[in-house]
Amino acid sequence: MTVFRCTNCQKPMTGEVVSGEPVRGPERPPGHEVVPPRMPLGTFKTNFDGSLLILHPDDVPGTVLHTDPRRVSGCCGLAGQDGPNLVCGRCGAEVATKESDCWTDNLVALMTAAVTDGRATDAAV
Ligand SMILES: [Zn+2]
Ligand SMILES: [Zn+2]
Repeated sequence: MTVFRCTNCQKPMTGEVVSGEPVRGPERPPGHEVVPPRMPLGTFKTNFDGSLLILHPDDVPGTVLHTDPRRVSGCCGLAGQDGPNLVCGRCGAEVATKESDCWTDNLVALMTAAVTDGRATDAAV
């Protein structure tokens, strides 16, 4: 189990998550429909270059939406194409990008550089 915390203030950004594999959903439905989440609830996957942690949209309770309206634009949800749109709920640091629009994936991408998994401070369990 891992809890990713804000590097800046140590507030937990995620719940307890484990390494998992993305699910390949059915073909994108036509029209304005949001696809099912890429990751199963409670799991994360590091992206190809290690810069992002892909999570289920409901696994980041420690974050809040960015206050810049340009960052949270979208059609049916959040497009996430204009920079990080989720910030730390305590200190406001930009920590993640959420995509949940009708033409994007449905996921949250935590920036590896903005979070810590606590391994440095927590003893092995
Ligand atoms: Zn739409
Ligand atoms: Zn913070």
